[in-house]
Amino acid sequence: MPYQVVVGLEVHVELKTKTKLFCQCANAFGSEPNTHTCPVCLAMPGALPVLNQAAVELAVKAGIALQCTIHCHSKFDRKQYFYPDLPKAYQISQYDLPFAEWGHVNIVADGQRKQVRIRRIHMEEDAGKLNHLGQSLEQSEGSLVDLNRAGVPLIEIVSEPDMTSADEARRYLTELRAVLSYLDVSDLRMEEGSMRCDANVSLKPEDYTGSLEDLPRVEVKNVNSIRNVGRAIEYEIERQSERLAQGQRIIKETRGFDDARGRTYSQRSKEEANDYRYFPEPDLPPLVLDSSWLARLQAALPMLPDAWRERLESLGLSANEIEVLVQDPSQIQFLQEAMEMTTEVRALTRWMLADMLRLLNERGLSFAQSPVRPAQLVELLNFIADGRISGRMAKEILENMFVSGESAGQLVDRLGMAQISDDAVLRGQVAEVIAEHGKVVDDYHSGKERALGFLVGQVMKRTRGQASPEVVNRLLKEALGSSVS
Ligand code: ADP
Ligand code: MG
Ligand code: ZN
Repeated sequence: MPYQVVVGLEVHVELKTKTKLFCQCANAFGSEPNTHTCPVCLAMPGALPVLNQAAVELAVKAGIALQCTIHCHSKFDRKQYFYPDLPKAYQISQYDLPFAEWGHVNIVADGQRKQVRIRRIHMEEDAGKLNHLGQSLEQSEGSLVDLNRAGVPLIEIVSEPDMTSADEARRYLTELRAVLSYLDVSDLRMEEGSMRCDANVSLKPEDYTGSLEDLPRVEVKNVNSIRNVGRAIEYEIERQSERLAQGQRIIKETRGFDDARGRTYSQRSKEEANDYRYFPEPDLPPLVLDSSWLARLQAALPMLPDAWRERLESLGLSANEIEVLVQDPSQIQFLQEAMEMTTEVRALTRWMLADMLRLLNERGLSFAQSPVRPAQLVELLNFIADGRISGRMAKEILENMFVSGESAGQLVDRLGMAQISDDAVLRGQVAEVIAEHGKVVDDYHSGKERALGFLVGQVMKRTRGQASPEVVNRLLKEALGSSVS
């Protein structure tokens, strides 16, 4: 029987605040274990949580950027479960009244634009981290608890089960990450766990008419890269369809992903509904957002990827160029600054995506870290537009700018690279080249177009590349034309 693939994703994003969600401990990755802890995040009796406003601000920014309805009234709840990384034995989260609902992310799938709906976004605190001793979990003799991460602010972004393939899931995650990266609310490093994804996968029989929620689904937990989310989903599709083909049913369960084997493996069955015994957090007041504060946040939001796509499309950039540019907010920032100084956007993006990107990649730098700033690139491009230097010279000058930090103007002077476009100077060179290459001149007159290119090349060579090719072209044609008998 044919099935349709159904995928819904839950994404946890650590917010980039200075301090934790409910205490003043530093929110820092990679420190010595248990150095960022206090009575609140260690769950000492009597210690009380105080909500971090900066975290709320980042969370709400994300909610607005993901087109959600922001609820001015929401609340925190306790989610109870026992695990050694959770010192309070409950997590402060948001249950029935999350701060944001009903957003969406636009993706392009099979050449079609498609909207993946976001069901809800809620705020919660992260748990600590268990460091298992020994080579593998099976052989481990114990685990050490590091509570530096306990209490770090998170948002959980829960999608609707709107995706129908591994590819759509990858595209959703890529776009979600792009949007969030423009806001600078998180490091978004999946390998460090500052962005984590759980993938829910089920197969819907074509004739199924019930609710998607009731289909038995598998939740693959904590997959550590966008690529692996795709692999895990592909594996699940195969595993589940084989089971169904054999007449077996799908068990609702939580599975892990084994990166090396490219397989998912069972962790625990979810047949018995988890009973988290949620109830309102009594130690925190309801979360009330001021509407004028909300309006200010909204107004201060940067231009987001979709808006940039439209703008760049209207400036005539190709779909490919646009996608490469919008994926990296530091590129867009660079472009935006440069666009304030020039109207030559086509030339600008071409130079950014070719030479600039290559020179940056060679040095492992992003556009934000580029030693050549937007104003300096624009100066260089203006020299080309003025005819002072050729494109080829500009390439060489740009390389030098990366090395020496000099401006284009300084380098043109120092390297003596100014382009020669003075007719009087070039006419002499043109005449000499014509005199030296009688055979090629004959070829030209008998209609061989390529002969002209050769002659231009000879003049360029004599001037060490400094002649303006356009001027040489014109002068050669003039000289050759007049010698036709
Ligand atoms: P849970 O507590 O089980 O994680 P949540 O409500 O937090 O439940 O998340 C449910 C997730 O499962 C959502 O992302 C939703 O889109 C997804 N989902 C719901 N039904 C299906 C289905 N049939 N197949 C795949 N994913 C689904
Ligand atoms: Mg969940
Ligand atoms: Zn603390």
